Amino acid sequence: MNIEAFSHLKEIQSLDNFIKKHLDAIKEEEGRLKDILALRERRSQELQSLTDLLEQYKKDTAHQEKELFDWEKKYQKAGEQLVLATNEKEISALEKEEKLSSEKIEEIQDEILDLLEKCEELEEKIAEAQEFLKGSLETVEEVKAEILDETKQERDAIEKYEKRIDALKSEIPNALWEGFSRAREKHRFNSSLARILNRACEKCRFQIDSLTANRVETATGVEQCSQCERLLIPLEA
Ligand SMILES: [Zn+2]
Repeated sequence: MNIEAFSHLKEIQSLDNFIKKHLDAIKEEEGRLKDILALRERRSQELQSLTDLLEQYKKDTAHQEKELFDWEKKYQKAGEQLVLATNEKEISALEKEEKLSSEKIEEIQDEILDLLEKCEELEEKIAEAQEFLKGSLETVEEVKAEILDETKQERDAIEKYEKRIDALKSEIPNALWEGFSRAREKHRFNSSLARILNRACEKCRFQIDSLTANRVETATGVEQCSQCERLLIPLEA
């Protein structure tokens, strides 16, 4: 290992910082999608509850229609029996039955009408939500295409930096690259490297023992700070 390999790592770190700027710019562009996606999500949930409610109302309607049918039968039966009734008591009971049935029939008919109206309203709202989701999906696709177009420069720049990083990597000994990769996994855009200043990691101030420090300064060992896991590099790198 030599000092130069550490210098390559420093260059990679500054390339990482450039990449970060471009990634941030891409992220900002992509933020334009967020609002539309959130709106779509809300409408889609709304659509689901409208659909559930419609299903419930349809079930209620079917149930009421059956009830109506039963009462209509009762009403008819009472009417038929009334013709054949022979005494006052029987007549009075049947008339009562007839009146009750007729009241029930009217009540249920009103309820059914009410339910049908509600179903119609829901169906309109469902159609609106579906229309919105369809239209906004097209918008999403359009915005995605725009973003892809507008971030081309950023992506090209990143690609250029990545190529340079690959070239530098080929000149770095494996063991050192592995140590760097571990540190970079955690700190890629927040300095993967740290020098030893006043016997401590310059980033997290963790104390470094003199043996470790010596290996780092003479470029004879791959050492990471045991606290923050940054790769320790010689002062003169
Ligand atoms: Zn540290």
